[in-house]
Amino acid sequence: MNQKAQEIVADLKAYLEYLKGMGIEALPTTEKKVEKVVGPEALTLEEIRTELGDCKRCKLHRTRRTIVFGEGDKKAKLMFIGEGPGYDEDVQGRPFVGKAGQLLTRIIQSIHLSREEVYIANIVKCRPPQNRNPEPDEIKSCSAFLMKQIQAIHPKIICALGTFAAQTLLETDAKITSLRGRSFDLQGIKVLPTYHPAFLLRNPEKKREVWEDMKQIAEWLAKEGKKF
Ligand code: URA
Repeated sequence: MNQKAQEIVADLKAYLEYLKGMGIEALPTTEKKVEKVVGPEALTLEEIRTELGDCKRCKLHRTRRTIVFGEGDKKAKLMFIGEGPGYDEDVQGRPFVGKAGQLLTRIIQSIHLSREEVYIANIVKCRPPQNRNPEPDEIKSCSAFLMKQIQAIHPKIICALGTFAAQTLLETDAKITSLRGRSFDLQGIKVLPTYHPAFLLRNPEKKREVWEDMKQIAEWLAKEGKKF
């Protein structure tokens, strides 16, 4: 170890001793999901896809047809994150291509953007059987890859679609009704939870609230220099 490194270690040791003296025995870890790393340290989407491989990290691999990695602009300012692939997505290997996906496409277009200009991904990349909810162990192993994707894309805004996306990204058990329409910070990225398009198909009267959320997103994007 060179002299400088030795000095740093000695300083650090002294600081930790000082904290211990004050009764602080453990430091909060910054095991934050999205590290504030952009540029060369962040993996590219291609590298993340390679690392994911023919993933068998959770039981969803047994019943899936395709891994639905995500798609869109790799430098998107806006990301949409849903829950997990359904039947159509599992068959086609693309996110949000079924009925709910068609509604999402219209929601995106409502703020004068196309699917190609945003990035669309899910909390889990493999279809849960019978479209059941993803389970905690599945979310845990899969969301690590999503966090890397977020790190690679480094969007300004994430629109979290529905309960699972909102709760996972914000690490909360709060209900979507209380999270929807509010702005949260995820390491400098604005997160706005809104209702899932599949929920809107069943509850069309809720579309008005999603429209409000989209207007908010459009305002933020305008401030970021996106022309409308
Ligand atoms: N629902 C989701 O949450 N994600 C998809 O990709 C499709 C439907």
